[in-house]
Parts: sequence; C-alpha cells; structure tokens
Amino acid sequence: MRVGKLGMPSTNTLLIVDPDPEARALCAATLDGMFSDVCGVDDGRDALVRAIDRPPALIISEIRLPFISGLDLCAVLRSDAATAAVPFAFVTAEGSEAAAAAARAAGASAVLVKPCAPDVVRAEARRLIARSGDLRRQGVAARQEAASQRARSNELLERSGRQLTKVRSHQRQMTTTPPLVPAVLRCPVCDATLRYERSHVGGVSAVHAEQWDYYACPIGCGDYQYRPRVRKLRHVS
Ligand SMILES: [Zn+2]
Repeated sequence: MRVGKLGMPSTNTLLIVDPDPEARALCAATLDGMFSDVCGVDDGRDALVRAIDRPPALIISEIRLPFISGLDLCAVLRSDAATAAVPFAFVTAEGSEAAAAAARAAGASAVLVKPCAPDVVRAEARRLIARSGDLRRQGVAARQEAASQRARSNELLERSGRQLTKVRSHQRQMTTTPPLVPAVLRCPVCDATLRYERSHVGGVSAVHAEQWDYYACPIGCGDYQYRPRVRKLRHVS
C-alpha cells in the first residue's frame, strides 16, 4: 500500500471491474463525487495489473470475469503486500449463498448482489473506506514501531559485537609457532596438501586456550581455517 506521511492513501481512485460497460457506468454514477479518479476495466487480468501498479482506494468487482475470475483477483490482491489492505467489494449478479461464501473466503470486504440500491452501495463504500483508513493508520503505526525496534536491536548487536571484538583481540596473538603443532591437511577441493601459513592463539583464558590454524591451497582453491579442538576445516576465502 502506498501511504503518504499521514497514513493517507496516495491515490483516491475507485477501480471498477466488470465486463458489462453499463454496469461500470452505473457504479461510477452511483459513487460519483466520492473519488478523485474512477478507473473501469472489463477483465480480471487488467484489473490485477492496474491494482498492483497503483493501488486504488476501493475495488468494486463482478465475480464472473474474463481471464482471471473475480475470486482469484481478490485472493491474489489480498496476498500482495501492496494491495492486501485495499478494500475489495463484490457487486455481483451471482446471488447464491455459495458464491457469497466463496467471495468471503477469497478475502472480500463486502458482497452485494445486483441489482442493488445506489444508497446501499454508497453506504457500503463509505464504510469500507473509513475502515481501511483506520487499518492503514494502524499499519503505519505498527511499521514505525517495528522499524524503531529493528534500529534498537541493530544498535545493541553492533555494540555487543564491538565489545566482543575488543576482548578477543586483546587476548589473541598471531604466531607461526603455536602450542599445538599444525596438522597436515589436504585441500577438500583438489586433495593437494595444504600449505600452513600461521595460527591465531587466544580463547577465554590461558587454561581454555584456543587455536585457529590458517592454511592455503597451493593450487589456488582458497584459504582455510582449521580448529584443532573441534577438528573442523573451514573455507574462509
Ligand atoms: Zn585445492
């Protein structure tokens, strides 16, 4: 959802999806004055492209549509972050309970059966837009909260990382004559005997000393780190 600074939608467009031009014209006339822009399309595919490109303030759709059904259109838009909060109302000729249930299952905000009284359509549109404004404002607040939490946790991580680095680098030293004689190792890629280069000696204390031996493949497969304590060879570059 495109949202301005105050949590208002950046577009105030009504998207009408109906293969029948008369039905589209009737809907546009019914909701005249409520939207700055009215866009009418006659199939589900065009509606999908249009809605994702510029999320409208409200979608009013028939269920039966060429290419992509109204139900699929609704479900897809509900699953896309940009359009998930856009109110989607069906105004449809399909009056069965099953059709209404399928529409709700697809994520419809409202289901009205044709022919419907203009003031019912207007009231429903007003209700859906007001509710989506509330949801958007809640969404903006939630996103801002999440962003500030991320900033806080990043800061904490960074700080603790710096402290950890400081402590370890204080205790560590680089040597080519480490306490544990470097093992003879083979390159896991080409099986050549790895060339020992140096060792890092450190750990939390002298008693709990740790050693990391660094090797290079003479053929050029890369550099490796070996930890004698756990006998683990790791490719490092
Ligand atoms: Zn190699």
